[in-house]
Amino acid sequence: MTDTSIFTEIESSVRSYCRNWPVTFARSEGDSLITEDGEEYLDFFAGAGALNYGHNNPALIEPMIDYIRGSGVLHGLDMYTTAKRDFLTTFRDLILQPRDMDYKVMFPGPTGTNAVEAALKIVRKVSGHQHILSFTNAFHGMTLGSLSVTGNSMKRRGAGLPLTNSSKIPYDDYFSGAVDDFIWLERVLEDSGSGVDKPAAIIVETVQGEGGLNAARMEWLRALSDLCQTHGIYLIVDDVQAGCGRTGTFFSFEEAGIKPDIITLSKSISGSGLPMAIALISPELDQWEPGEHNGTFRGNNPAFVTATAALKKYWADDVFSKEVQQRGYELHGGLSRIAAKYDGTVRGRGLLTGIHFSDPEAAGKLAGACFQRHLMVETSGPDDEVLKVMPPLTISKDRLAEGIERIEAAAAEVLA
Ligand code: PMP
Repeated sequence: MTDTSIFTEIESSVRSYCRNWPVTFARSEGDSLITEDGEEYLDFFAGAGALNYGHNNPALIEPMIDYIRGSGVLHGLDMYTTAKRDFLTTFRDLILQPRDMDYKVMFPGPTGTNAVEAALKIVRKVSGHQHILSFTNAFHGMTLGSLSVTGNSMKRRGAGLPLTNSSKIPYDDYFSGAVDDFIWLERVLEDSGSGVDKPAAIIVETVQGEGGLNAARMEWLRALSDLCQTHGIYLIVDDVQAGCGRTGTFFSFEEAGIKPDIITLSKSISGSGLPMAIALISPELDQWEPGEHNGTFRGNNPAFVTATAALKKYWADDVFSKEVQQRGYELHGGLSRIAAKYDGTVRGRGLLTGIHFSDPEAAGKLAGACFQRHLMVETSGPDDEVLKVMPPLTISKDRLAEGIERIEAAAAEVLA
């Protein structure tokens, strides 16, 4: 193994993924990462969802190389550029219009948490209410506003101050079917004596990527959306992780047929792993003063170039979407086989699927054994009790099957 001493010597103790995968990667291509020693690892992690189209996908990278060679603008704040025009035009034509969606596109800073912060600010500003409701086991990012609507206690403690103006409500199936959906919320919203302040918004992930791959049912999402409409509460869908095709459709809520007031996207919106984020804001909510939420890196133009190329290559028709859905069935089938053998249950949707084990140690042990077999796969959930499988959406049928076989072999070794 090559020298990793500089990392342990001077890189902050906050580093985490590298602790489970203690090799030094030098190159990456498609569904693989390659170490300095030339060892290849199959990637069932995909940059935590930032690499839906794989590593260094030539259909995305070539246009960016041409753009840079042609002295295209790299940094542009929120100035008008040809790269931004191309992105907005393509996004409108291939994503919004075919889905009959009417939204303003806001470019916050280039991270998921920035899109969430922007969403929280604008719903508070427009509604005049401060309170935000979010769900048990939610994850929305590490800045203070996003943390206040995030569940994980270790991450919340990191804030170092009280995280206020938000409350947690139970996500779908939190009580294992024992309690009717939204029964408490409906009651307190109707009761002027409940003491529960009217919220500005409810923020939700359709599949809780970090919180253990809980996947909301479509009828639950529809009921949530109806409840928001009835009570004049804005609905924010945080599609940072589940969006951009991860669940088989571009937006993760398409099957539910709901119309959120705000949608946040980041991770794979650039397609290439370059930082980029957007908040889609319904036009009547777009009441920002110019510059009221700004940031130096809102105009990452190479990201606009790769984002445009990704939309044109994969979202001009439904061929890719159908392929992703097919891979999702295959993944679900493979993981079900493993789950049945080792006291687990399959969770998630599309290519954001995993296994929840009743033994809280199992997922971590299994992920470690997978790495020994040159397969990168992470864990999720409050106690890391879920093996989280998230390959690039572009993975071939054979490579997906190969990865599942490696998980199976690893499970036979450490879980039997
Ligand atoms: N929202 C969701 C649903 C996420 O999964 C994440 C990242 N895991 C974020 C927000 C935060 O994104 P970022 O790390 O880019 O700030």
